[in-house]
This record gives sequence, structure tokens and C-alpha cells, in this order.
Amino acid sequence: MPATTTATTPARVFNQCQHIFNPASHLARRCGLPALRGETHCYFHHPTRKPSVTRHARRGFKILLPRDRRSLQSSLLQVIHRLAANQIDPHRASLLLYALQISSKNIR
Ligand SMILES: [Zn+2]
Repeated sequence: MPATTTATTPARVFNQCQHIFNPASHLARRCGLPALRGETHCYFHHPTRKPSVTRHARRGFKILLPRDRRSLQSSLLQVIHRLAANQIDPHRASLLLYALQISSKNIR
């Protein structure tokens, strides 16, 4: 009977994602998901991934009712600021800007 060799499959080694949650707190922990092939981060934390809208977008915020030019300008600046800071969903921002545009036509 010929000798048989057993082929052993090498264990697949994954690099773990290097992203750290809550890096400045005592709750800091590593993501731990498998990193993309040849990369240091997983799909969700890869630097080329478009940043998701932050938690501020889900919380919502209050804006002044556009009753005059001053409150209209204040609301407009607030939406622009949150949009620039990626704190609001772009679709929601466009709806708010459209509503403010309509309001501006009614305010003299
Ligand atoms: Zn990750």
C-alpha cells in the first residue's frame, strides 16, 4: 500500500481592521472585522469609503420658523453649516432648502 500524504490546508490569516471605536475614552476598542485584502481597514472603515452622516442627522435639530428675513437667513445658515459638516442627510437638507426658498418668496 503506497504511503499517503495528508494535505493540510493552511489556516487563513486575516488582518484585523485597525479602526478604534471611542479612541479617547476608556471604552476604546478595536473594530476587529477582517480587513480588506491588502488593506489595514475593513469595508466600513476604509478611508476611501464615503463618510456616513453622523448621529446628528438622526437626532434632528430645530430651526427658526421663517417669519422674516432675519429668521430665514438664520435657518438657511444653519442648514448650510450642518450640510458642510456632514451632520444632515443631503436629501433632507435639499427639502429644507427648498422650503426656505418657498418661504423667501412669501417674505418681503
Ligand atoms: Zn472596521
